[in-house]
Amino acid sequence: MSAVSEIQAVTAEAVADMRRLLAHRTRPVRIMEVCGTHTVAIFRAGLRQVLPAEIELVSGPGCPVCVTADDYIDAAIAYAEMDDVIITTFGDMLKVPGSTSSLAAAQAAGADVRIVYSPLDALTVAAEHPEKQVVFLAVGFETTAPTEAAAVCTAKERGLSNFSLLSAQKLVPPVMRALLDGGETHVDGFLLPGHASVVTGTRVFDFLAADYHIPGVVGGFQPLEILHAIHRIIRQLAEGAARIENTYASVVRPAGNPAALAMIDRVYEPAEAAWRGLGRIPASGLSMREEYAAFDMARLRPLSIAVPQEGRRGCRCGEVLRGAIVPRDCALFGRACVPEHAVGPCMVSVEGTCAAWYKYGGGRFRYGA
Ligand code: SF4
Repeated sequence: MSAVSEIQAVTAEAVADMRRLLAHRTRPVRIMEVCGTHTVAIFRAGLRQVLPAEIELVSGPGCPVCVTADDYIDAAIAYAEMDDVIITTFGDMLKVPGSTSSLAAAQAAGADVRIVYSPLDALTVAAEHPEKQVVFLAVGFETTAPTEAAAVCTAKERGLSNFSLLSAQKLVPPVMRALLDGGETHVDGFLLPGHASVVTGTRVFDFLAADYHIPGVVGGFQPLEILHAIHRIIRQLAEGAARIENTYASVVRPAGNPAALAMIDRVYEPAEAAWRGLGRIPASGLSMREEYAAFDMARLRPLSIAVPQEGRRGCRCGEVLRGAIVPRDCALFGRACVPEHAVGPCMVSVEGTCAAWYKYGGGRFRYGA
């Protein structure tokens, strides 16, 4: 049997078993992924079309750029406009709209905004420009926090006093709890994030089963790995069970990566954080410890940025991130809002749900109200 035939056979067998397990359900099963990479991988592989009609896949707050609130973007722009500041960032932040502008617009107007591929690259920029304050935009989940913490430690060791982070680091488990406590979004099972779980481990998700009786399965990113993880969720639901399983055991351990966790703990401490669409959630972010305050741009040069009202311009990203609507429910989707002229961050980021819907289907998919 060829490799393609083998994949088709495995897929057909898994889908048939899911159909059998779901045969007696009176309503569809709703599975949420909370990782932007999963969102894109699901669309790219066409898994929505392959899965039984009784399974609804919904995206949650798994795209770090998308969940970053407008006031953070506004602050980044304000710093970028300072003559002695260089902003360094991953490329996907550039076009994200703040309340009135974007870093791309600031760059076009003359601000020094540079794309880097790692916070360690930003250290190099800082070493080359001692006369400037070099700020790295630390936007991400547990996956990226260790590297950013390591960059801060390296800057301290090297005596690089002109390097700092503008941190909007966030944590996945607290936002999942907030989502469930909010009561707006019904979820029957979670496809748990493979990347973040490499750092956190699986035990941090035990509360889903213990407190909410919702199964969760950590999955890899290949189509068959995702299919396998979803199949395991369906099996648990058919059994009436709720436990946390790990189908990505080649890289994810129950206790995570102790060295990465220790690096995070060295530099950061849990703090309240603002999420687009979900508001301020206690202990859902990371702020830099007092010992590292000299590397925290928000403390070095505090700004007074008004918290913008969400939903301006008709963008419904907040609801998309809560799984309350799907992109095609937004009147701007595919019309006023397309990747080339994005109104909201969910259409800007390559991991954004609106961008994935637009790129891979334009709202043709079976799903939602
Ligand atoms: Fe916002 Fe555009 Fe998505 Fe609508 S389609 S929710 S405007 S990003």
